[in-house]
Amino acid sequence: MPKTEVPVQKNEYYDLTFEDLTHEGAGVAKVQGFPIFVQNVLPGESAKVKIIKVKKGFAFGRLMALTEESPERVEAPCPIYKECGGCQLQHLSYKGQLDFKQKQVENVLSRIGKLDLDRITVHPTLGMNDPWNYRNKAQVPVGEREGALVAGFYQQRSHEIIDMQKCLIQQAENDDVVQAVKEICSRRGIRAYKEETHKGWLRHIMVRYGQVSGEMMVVFVTRTNDFPHKTEIIEEITSRFGQVKSIVQNINIKRTNVIFGDETNVLWGEEYIYDSIGDIRFAISARSFYQVNPEQTKVLYDKALEYAELTGEETVIDAYCGIGTISLFLAQKAKKVYGVEIVPEAIEDAKRNAELNGLNNAEFGVGEAEVVIPNWYKQGIKADTIVVDPPRKGCDEALLKTILDMKPKRVVYVSCNPGTLARDLQVLEQGGYETVEVQPVDMFPQTMHCEAVAKIVLKEETDA
Ligand code: SAH
Repeated sequence: MPKTEVPVQKNEYYDLTFEDLTHEGAGVAKVQGFPIFVQNVLPGESAKVKIIKVKKGFAFGRLMALTEESPERVEAPCPIYKECGGCQLQHLSYKGQLDFKQKQVENVLSRIGKLDLDRITVHPTLGMNDPWNYRNKAQVPVGEREGALVAGFYQQRSHEIIDMQKCLIQQAENDDVVQAVKEICSRRGIRAYKEETHKGWLRHIMVRYGQVSGEMMVVFVTRTNDFPHKTEIIEEITSRFGQVKSIVQNINIKRTNVIFGDETNVLWGEEYIYDSIGDIRFAISARSFYQVNPEQTKVLYDKALEYAELTGEETVIDAYCGIGTISLFLAQKAKKVYGVEIVPEAIEDAKRNAELNGLNNAEFGVGEAEVVIPNWYKQGIKADTIVVDPPRKGCDEALLKTILDMKPKRVVYVSCNPGTLARDLQVLEQGGYETVEVQPVDMFPQTMHCEAVAKIVLKEETDA
């Protein structure tokens, strides 16, 4: 096979100009179409690069010197930015981040979705006024160093846990509780779980904070279902933090890097904490999905509601509904809402939340959206509007097919992965729908994560 197919060579130097970023935040430059990935460079920048690894379809390079710097480059404020890897964009100005996310959505819509950007508006990303300290959930792996517990993040490409005192995108309340739990447990001789030996006990600490209610939940993820020094540890946490309303233990006996196990027990207080988004109050239990950026969640849901254009007469389906957050937003303006979600605890929360808010026009079903919605359709449930908010892998094909059969007038697609959004929009477009506009909303400032909501209408409606 001719070697000339790869246009760069290991240990050689090249002058490159960067066009894009990978999902991990590395700069992407191309040499005769062949992609080179380099850390710590931004789109629009040029640099001298040494090639350090050549693979079949791409290569990795090391930044030797920047020859042209982006005007949007800034000093990353976090001292552990490079080691942590949790944020990827701190060295890009916030305006630069918002522009980048808008462009990213445009790029995938045209490249993956083959959609015509002349007829679809991709709006500028809606960002935060203060894009720091926004996360309402901390979830940290626990390890040991010199006899004491440490908790924070895995050093990149290793299983070593680096201790973190403070995270700049985390709400300070969460950092405080994580620090205290670590210290209290350390003092009581609690041992951290060790992946290599599958011994030890404490695997993860999760803390959730209801920004509006001020209520907090602490979750201990442990290898076994015992709890050494339980009474003393609980007593110390609750006496120091009056906001803690719920302490929960999740048991994960498996040798796995999946965080949670199947069994969850309340150790103290409530099974859930409360929080509000807009006028709606939510009960949130340990295993339920709840958006991590409360301020931007309101922005996102308001946009979804606007795109749904409800008059009060519609039947709406909310697929991938979690604890019914979007469903209940919609229920305020629709005749009837059906929500579906795969996690049974989340559906329990959703039902409780409908009751809590006096919304008796919402009904919820447990199961895979791609199974439950086709069944509903067979039973004669027909939606005027369908809202989908799937995980990163996007909508299942069977669900898209049911949407095409059911022909709701509107589809509102809330997406945390522009790539799968673009793929699914293409299917809907080929089936008679038209994407009208897409609004990126910055739910995850300082990171590469990009959220967007799309308004899609059935074509006959616009042709009529
Ligand atoms: N709309 C909610 C949740 C969105 S996150 C909110 O904004 O809070 C996506 C949700 O999809 C998660 O709750 C996850 O448990 C659920 N999920 C994942 N795969 C699913 C499937 N095949 N069918 C239904 N729900 C699924």
